[in-house]
Amino acid sequence: MTRIIGITGGIGSGKSTLANCFLAHGVPVIDADEISRFALTPASDCFPAVVELFGNEAKKPDGTLDRAYIAAKVFADSYARDALNGIVHPFVIREMLKRSGESDSPFVAWDVPLLFESGVDAYCACTVAVLCGEEIRVARAMRRDGANEEQIRARIRAQITDETRAALATYTIRNEGTLDAFYAEADTLIGTILEELL
Ligand code: ATP
Repeated sequence: MTRIIGITGGIGSGKSTLANCFLAHGVPVIDADEISRFALTPASDCFPAVVELFGNEAKKPDGTLDRAYIAAKVFADSYARDALNGIVHPFVIREMLKRSGESDSPFVAWDVPLLFESGVDAYCACTVAVLCGEEIRVARAMRRDGANEEQIRARIRAQITDETRAALATYTIRNEGTLDAFYAEADTLIGTILEELL
């Protein structure tokens, strides 16, 4: 059976960077954010439930969902947000399990920002938390997304802290230096993890 390695960390901590290191070691990566975006496309089987929740006003003339309309609705209405999460979150878990089951690799890595908050760690053989101080994360996220500092800090406040992640994770890795230093540490850690899981 394919064993799942859960990767988590705060915004801009370096989860995707670590996931790419797993990929370089031949471990396929499944990205929860990518599946959440897929959930809102007509190709996903939860699309009809999302349309039913928001009504036809949420559809654009080309049949795809109007993400800006949905974002405004869930921002203004916590009931709508919870209802949308109630559709999308189970879909994301089902889809990650399905893709993992279809993989012929002995290991897959799941990149899940809210791994512990959502309880998805229960599916994992082990978990890795990427740790990084808030100021560095804010600077990285602003540089990458051109996002507003206050929005990023609000998202960070809504997540668990690095202390909690470190206490819950099987392994931790810090990402506060250069990318080359991180790649070197990640290589060693991935070697250890794959050896222990074999
Ligand atoms: P998010 O949850 O916000 O998507 P993430 O945890 O997946 O973020 P990454 O996408 O890996 O984080 O990294 C965020 C940004 O910071 C990327 O543009 C990445 O290239 C850059 N980055 C990551 N680690 C470093 C580093 N050590 N030095 C410089 N830049 C870095």
